[in-house]
Amino acid sequence: MIQHCIVQVVLDTPLDFYFDYRYPVEAENFPVPKIGMLVVVPFGRREEAGLIVDVKEESEIDENKLKDVVSVISEIPPLRTDWIDLCRFAAGYYQRPLGEVALPSIPKNIRANKKLALKRAVKALVQVPGNIVATNMEKPVLLKAQEQAVSAIVKTRGFKPFVLYGVTGSGKTEIYLQAIEEKLKQSDAMQVLIMVPEINLTPQLEVSVRSRFPGVTIATLHSRLTESERLKNWLQIHTGVARIVLGTRLAILASMPQLGLIVVDEEHDPSYKQQEGLRYSARDLAVWRANQLGIPVVLGSATPSLESWQHVLSGRYVKLELPERAVKDAVLPAIRLIDATREPLQNGFSPSLINAIKRRLEKSEQSLLFLNRRGYAPVITCEACGWISVCERCTAYMVYHKSHHLLRCHHCGLERPIPRVCPDCGNIDLQTLGRGTQRIEEGLAGYFPDARILRIDADSTRKKGSLEAALEMVHKGEIDIVIGTQMISKGHDFQNMTLVGVLNPDTALFSHDYRAGERLFSQLMQVAGRAGRGGVSEHGNRSEVLIQTRYPMHPLYQAALTHDYGNYVSDLLMERQNAGLPPFGFQVLLFAEARKVENALDFLRQAIDAIPEPEAVIINEPIPMAMMRIANVERAQLLIESTSRGRLQGMLKEWIPVLRNMKTGIRWHIEVDPMSI
Ligand code: ADP
Ligand code: ZN
Ligand code: ZN
Repeated sequence: MIQHCIVQVVLDTPLDFYFDYRYPVEAENFPVPKIGMLVVVPFGRREEAGLIVDVKEESEIDENKLKDVVSVISEIPPLRTDWIDLCRFAAGYYQRPLGEVALPSIPKNIRANKKLALKRAVKALVQVPGNIVATNMEKPVLLKAQEQAVSAIVKTRGFKPFVLYGVTGSGKTEIYLQAIEEKLKQSDAMQVLIMVPEINLTPQLEVSVRSRFPGVTIATLHSRLTESERLKNWLQIHTGVARIVLGTRLAILASMPQLGLIVVDEEHDPSYKQQEGLRYSARDLAVWRANQLGIPVVLGSATPSLESWQHVLSGRYVKLELPERAVKDAVLPAIRLIDATREPLQNGFSPSLINAIKRRLEKSEQSLLFLNRRGYAPVITCEACGWISVCERCTAYMVYHKSHHLLRCHHCGLERPIPRVCPDCGNIDLQTLGRGTQRIEEGLAGYFPDARILRIDADSTRKKGSLEAALEMVHKGEIDIVIGTQMISKGHDFQNMTLVGVLNPDTALFSHDYRAGERLFSQLMQVAGRAGRGGVSEHGNRSEVLIQTRYPMHPLYQAALTHDYGNYVSDLLMERQNAGLPPFGFQVLLFAEARKVENALDFLRQAIDAIPEPEAVIINEPIPMAMMRIANVERAQLLIESTSRGRLQGMLKEWIPVLRNMKTGIRWHIEVDPMSI
């Protein structure tokens, strides 16, 4: 007669339950059950991988109704309880079932229990963790401020969040590298995690890390890995073989048994917030994780988030400030505003900008033109009757893509031929309104027919490897003028780039999104950072950033002129405090989707009625979303606020289960700490 005990298991299902299974004791291939082990269990008509979160003698459910664990995935060491606690915290805070957080962070090939693949991958691991070897590589002598920063980070014992604040080129990366080196030397097993917003936009960081630590196993984690790469890297990390992990937001959920330091580069970047499923902020989870493990976390940025800045002011985070650019003689580029009301634009260009580009061409220097709008023109219109190219499935315009001869909706992907005549009145003289990167490219070719112009945006880099190829051409000096979207604003170090032109940034000033200004400022600083990173050009001129605007007196631009983020942030924080917005207030959004927005709104009103203790929070009126319809689905939202994070969380714990039980047929989801409202 086989003895059984009971294991409590979570599965990757939307059901927020823990499931009990019988587990044979002392049976062959069934090691002593432990929390953190992965097992295969019957679930419905399938078999699923599950994570053991508890082991007990008996179940509250009648034992005869319980099913048996099918097998144990014993090839990998059990997951540690601190990792399960991280998942449990994320699940609780962002309101998702634990199983939906924990299981998807484990590679598919493990969950599918592919014995052969697993055995092979585990066997390939038999190598000692790479130890830090003295490299002959030259590393720069740290400047005073850098040295202080490194020393503050590495001498920390216990939890401490640092905000590393310094403009592009001030030497933040060098600080990460030297702090990591010191940490790795502190213990033979310690692991460090470096997070970046998007790995393919910052290939240089990976190159720097690999060349600085040649003997160390470095594993990357991001969404573009193949399943076998993911398995290999994850196992290296989980078994402690990889000492350095370089990854995007999802890396925060990796199982790192010896984690000793976390670096979050560009911590303000919106891509740290996941926009679907578990809507987590990897930056916030990084701070939680560091606190849990009692380790330092470094949040680096030229334009720290208002959240982090406020924590510095309140004394919870420590600010490490880098005052200048690290490379000798490199100065910040001069920022100049071009008043577009006095210097009328032609084809999107002011005469000053055209002249500045011309001077660069004469000296064989490169220029970068930044415009955050791809396509040819955002819309085509009929001046006779007012017809506009709108998407039939979305509350959005169809964008004119001249090179493909079509209209494309950037929200649902719908494509339509360009009408020859106005669909409403038959007018043959349709006009294009506004400018996207393609149209700027065309206009520029008119001004500089001999220049080598390259456009870099989502349309020009669809093919795998095409972005890398494009950047390579720029680096090699095969390009005179680059036109690009935010894709090129990050991380690339263009030595010969002495001019950055920002074509049309004003739209962000009037956005309904209260974070648009903050985001524009950081984009301006980032794109300005592309200019003259190699120092003063050999011709002795200082690099310039020219911003074309109709509102040169706007405080945002005035602060940008002097690179004075601190001042600008103080103003923003004051506004936020007065309005009760983050980081002074806390928010939760409930989204609902339906064929008709009225049904979505009805659901949200019912949801309001189900709020326990409605007086404890601020409940706003449900409203259709700014972009109400996407792909024929209509969307509405409900904003709930509170001055207390705890009170809001307490309310959600009671409210969400009620919502889950409401049988309405409406799709909904919740977002805690939304990036925009
Ligand atoms: P950030 O990460 O702030 O943009 P980096 O660390 O990449 O800045 O530094 C910018 C450039 O300056 C890099 O080429 C780097 O090698 C160099 N650098 C950094 N620190 C020093 C230093 N102390 N002395 C000389 N060069 C340095
Ligand atoms: Zn018309
Ligand atoms: Zn559409």
